Amino acid sequence: MERKVLVSYCLLGKNCRFDGKNRFNAGLVRFLNKNKVKPVGVCPEELGGLKGKRGPFEFKGRPSSVINGKTAVRDIKGADFTANFIKGAYGALSIARKNRIRLAILKSKSPSCGCDYTYNGSFKKIVKKGLGITAYILKKNKIRLFSDNQYKKLRSAMCNVPGAR
Ligand code: SF4
Repeated sequence: MERKVLVSYCLLGKNCRFDGKNRFNAGLVRFLNKNKVKPVGVCPEELGGLKGKRGPFEFKGRPSSVINGKTAVRDIKGADFTANFIKGAYGALSIARKNRIRLAILKSKSPSCGCDYTYNGSFKKIVKKGLGITAYILKKNKIRLFSDNQYKKLRSAMCNVPGAR
């Protein structure tokens, strides 16, 4: 069976970041090729309707508080983009489900994809431990997450997660 993994599109070289750039990770792409794993790229922010230069965005508190409407994802001017982030998160989940994907490699620190750290909502480049909105939704739906600097752990995960091989 073909093995697939969900990957933040900016790690694959797509210029989908808020600053119009990418975060191409050559080591990750080599690793996936070598292990015959097909990356399925997603950019949750684009899926949520946020294309081109935008943001940056941050949120205070937990991603569950964003989903519950207790706090918001905002840009640096204070505008509320929560609906875009939630739409993008469920868009990414839908793509994972269509492809029967159980594992994801996501860009660290992003308010969408961060699966280890995110910025703390102060726009002062201060990180906190925690998940971005998409990472939270994927994890709640039993997709195992790896940040872009943990991708080498994927090999053993593919052996241990049913349906991920
Ligand atoms: S939302 Fe995710 S895939 Fe899109 S630019 Fe941000 S980190 Fe990359």
